[in-house]
Amino acid sequence: MCVPTCTAPWAACLRMAHSADFSLRGRRCSMHLMAKATSSTWSCLSSSSPAHISSNPYARFQLSPRGRHQMKTHPLRFRGCGNEALCSFKCLQMETPRRRRSSPPTASTPSSEAPQAAQDTMVRRVAVVGAGISGLAATKCCLEEGLEPTCFEQSEDIGGLWRYTEKPEEGRASIYRTVFTNSCKEMMCYPDFPFPDDYPNYIHNARLHKYIRDYAQHFDLLRHIRFKTTVTKIRKRPDFSATGQWEVVTRSDGKEEAAVFDAVMVCTGHHVYPNLPLAHFPGIEKFKGCYLHSRDYKEPEKFRGKKVLVVGLGNSGCDIAVELSTVASQVYLSSRRGSWVMSRVWNFGYPWDMLLITRFWTWLDNFLPKAVSDWLYVRSMNQQYKHEDFGLMPVDGSSRREPVLNDDILSRITCGVVLIKPNVKEFRETSVLFQDGTVQDDLDAVIFATGYSHSFPFMEDESIIESKNNEATLYKCIVPPKLEKPTMAVIGLVQSFGSAIPTADVQCRWAVKVFQGLCTLPSVNEMLEDIEEKKRSKIRWFGTSNTLQTDYITYMNELTSAIGAKPNVLKLLLTDPLLALKVFFGPCTPYQFRLTGPGKWSGARKAIFTQWDRTLKPTRTREAPPATSTLPSLLVLGMLLIPLLLLLTVLY
Ligand code: FAD
Repeated sequence: MCVPTCTAPWAACLRMAHSADFSLRGRRCSMHLMAKATSSTWSCLSSSSPAHISSNPYARFQLSPRGRHQMKTHPLRFRGCGNEALCSFKCLQMETPRRRRSSPPTASTPSSEAPQAAQDTMVRRVAVVGAGISGLAATKCCLEEGLEPTCFEQSEDIGGLWRYTEKPEEGRASIYRTVFTNSCKEMMCYPDFPFPDDYPNYIHNARLHKYIRDYAQHFDLLRHIRFKTTVTKIRKRPDFSATGQWEVVTRSDGKEEAAVFDAVMVCTGHHVYPNLPLAHFPGIEKFKGCYLHSRDYKEPEKFRGKKVLVVGLGNSGCDIAVELSTVASQVYLSSRRGSWVMSRVWNFGYPWDMLLITRFWTWLDNFLPKAVSDWLYVRSMNQQYKHEDFGLMPVDGSSRREPVLNDDILSRITCGVVLIKPNVKEFRETSVLFQDGTVQDDLDAVIFATGYSHSFPFMEDESIIESKNNEATLYKCIVPPKLEKPTMAVIGLVQSFGSAIPTADVQCRWAVKVFQGLCTLPSVNEMLEDIEEKKRSKIRWFGTSNTLQTDYITYMNELTSAIGAKPNVLKLLLTDPLLALKVFFGPCTPYQFRLTGPGKWSGARKAIFTQWDRTLKPTRTREAPPATSTLPSLLVLGMLLIPLLLLLTVLY
């Protein structure tokens, strides 16, 4: 008689099937059992060839080994343990499921054409490619759900883009020395790991890197990372359509190794491969000065006293132009389509994203006719200054073009050290001709801040992550829709008004549920239709900008509702009204996405209630008396005068 020991920490409830790994007589046995609970016993329906499991009519439960629980013996009728004998079954305490659910949450109704989800297979080993902020989120989410992640990082440290180095490294994003975040700390943190309260609201890259390191240490992620290990190939296993497994080839110290994984999370970032469209700049080959992509720009010193043209009015272009203007003799900033430029410091000195990224504004945006909400948007963008007066106004009429965050560009333009110019028509040996016919002579250098293209050079079959015009065809911007089994997720390949860290966290939680078959996908056609619809709506809202754009809260709502983690504001209104108001009207901080459901963080409510304290702490560094205002007393006086005025009107 064999005595399998269930290593699952919690079991399924009555009439739920339970899939688990077992060890038989101390030998780890990777087969999976589907067990059906009867009132007090567990009977094993089949041993686990995937085919058996897929024929099982019962819903599966997720496994989440969070530690060992009390042992308890359950009698089990057991078939398929090699000898087909009936066995008794010693299982860990069948504690009440922490996350009991009558049926797995679905992204939408599955149909017969749906990719056979990991439902039929057991995802356990996950390869995570890259240890930037996305890769760390992926590693942590896998651990939370009882999976076994192995994170491969080609460089020697975590942090990806946020690890500054003097020289760009191949295959890794590269930033300039002075990069600060555009998202404030309360909007940018991992949802269960707030920034220290004395951190400034917008953070220098070195500080952010420290926070990332603290996060990795706090959740003990480092031991799951294999540094200096590059993923060189990812290919489907020959039996992929049955198992969903991948072969991942890595190179470390010149040695190649291949390993099999049940799922892959691609977290390699999208600011690595420079988009340098030199063909669009006739004459550049004749230009005698130097030119480079913003990826290779580190600091301004070598441009001291020079005339420099920066091409591209994005975040990097603006930052670099401002920084150069402190040393260069003249900076020209050329833009093809213009851009909204906002300050990080918004009304009343509060961080822009704390005021603008709220559920209320998103609701209003969707509720109001588009013309009205566009008008409100344009009005708020022009509230501090008229973009047209500074040559910045977007020209393609798409009012929602991704705004650029920069606090200094206006003053630089006003002081004449940065000149905004239209698109370049042609380069000459020492000058440049712009579309409006103006020429700038004696140009010394050109910096192309023309963005990045994404690429997945390790994918053996490039068609798996299809991409057109720098837009990847991914369901929910995560899953390649045509896979027979959805066991691959691309994390972080999305750009919204919101911040990358909480977005990656939610994407990873959603992806892991998809791997586990707890979040079923619709049919391939429905997924493709959804992707097309999202593209159309992107053009409607954001125009033809080819940055990866999506509406942050709408996107996060979609993902979190599919995994049962979206806060229900109406329910909260009844149970915790103050929290409901903060969630709906307050900044949509990342904690909201871990208030409830799987991955719930017990500190989320407190973090929401204290978010403004942490925002104000780093700037209130000198005790100052509150501003006195005569307005309230004037108002009271005015109220008292109204009856008097009415009386006077009647009398006369
Ligand atoms: P990355 O940080 O690029 O990390 C990818 C990792 O994968 C790297 O460590 C790399 O070495 C590794 N890797 C790649 N290929 C392989 C391979 N084959 N094998 C093994 N390892 C591999 N976002 C915000 O939310 N707020 C901001 O304020 C903000 N500011 C930005 C400023 C600049 C200048 C730029 C360029 C981007 C900014 N972003 C910002 C967006 C930024 O991309 C994200 O914040 C974030 O860094 C993306 O993280 P990631 O983990 O997805 O990718």
